[in-house]
Amino acid sequence: MTRYKNFQRKIQKYERKISKSRIKLKRKLYKFKDYVFRVGISTKEEFELSKPSESKISFPCHLGIVSIGKINLNSFQKIEVNLERKFDSFFFNIYNLGRFKFPKEVFKKGIKKEIKEIKNTAELLELHPTNKIYQLLIDLAKRNELDMILAITDLPLYSSSNSNIIFLFGEAHIKHNCCVVSSLKLKEEYYNRIKNKELLELRLIKETTHELGHLILGPEHCNEDSCVMTFSREIEGIDYKSIRLCDKCYEKLINLREVCNF
Ligand SMILES: [Zn+2]
Ligand SMILES: [Zn+2]
Repeated sequence: MTRYKNFQRKIQKYERKISKSRIKLKRKLYKFKDYVFRVGISTKEEFELSKPSESKISFPCHLGIVSIGKINLNSFQKIEVNLERKFDSFFFNIYNLGRFKFPKEVFKKGIKKEIKEIKNTAELLELHPTNKIYQLLIDLAKRNELDMILAITDLPLYSSSNSNIIFLFGEAHIKHNCCVVSSLKLKEEYYNRIKNKELLELRLIKETTHELGHLILGPEHCNEDSCVMTFSREIEGIDYKSIRLCDKCYEKLINLREVCNF
């Protein structure tokens, strides 16, 4: 009987190993397919960002927010109110640019397929390069005479500066004064948990503050775990940090205001 049980245990062990290898193999296959796909199509050439303007941004400035995909409009207003409060006097005005949809041919460009691995479910998602978003933001900022622009999207993203950085929460392009936040991994549904609208809103508020914080304060992250400017690799980190800037970061903001004299 014990021998039988031992065999059973061994079989289970091997089954687990096979399942793991299968996921690994799938990932390798998609990477290979992606490579073949990229040989003919360079995403870099497709989204070569136009040169940033020479003049540095001066505060106060005009900020625009655009949504790409399905974002609840009530959340949008709450995000706006929070940014106004947090960066009070840094913005003359915050403009709601509404919803944007990529034309089909642009939407398809630069897509990279990756496996979302949560609790043994290997679902394949199509990720978009951040440069595709930035290119749109640069054009929108120019057209609407905005100094700074933020996009909120539900699209899965990968970083154009490093395609190994996948499923981004958000990214800022400081030279171009634009940033993007993806709600994909901020949603409880992503982790196969029950939808939670309030929690999503709170996470969106933290991440939009964080990315705009980079555009105003610079690329550095804060060492204070509870500060909104700390780097969060996982959703737990985002939930742990507060929506506020710590005293040190707030002081930076005040100093900047004094330097810019407003
Ligand atoms: Zn950051
Ligand atoms: Zn801080």
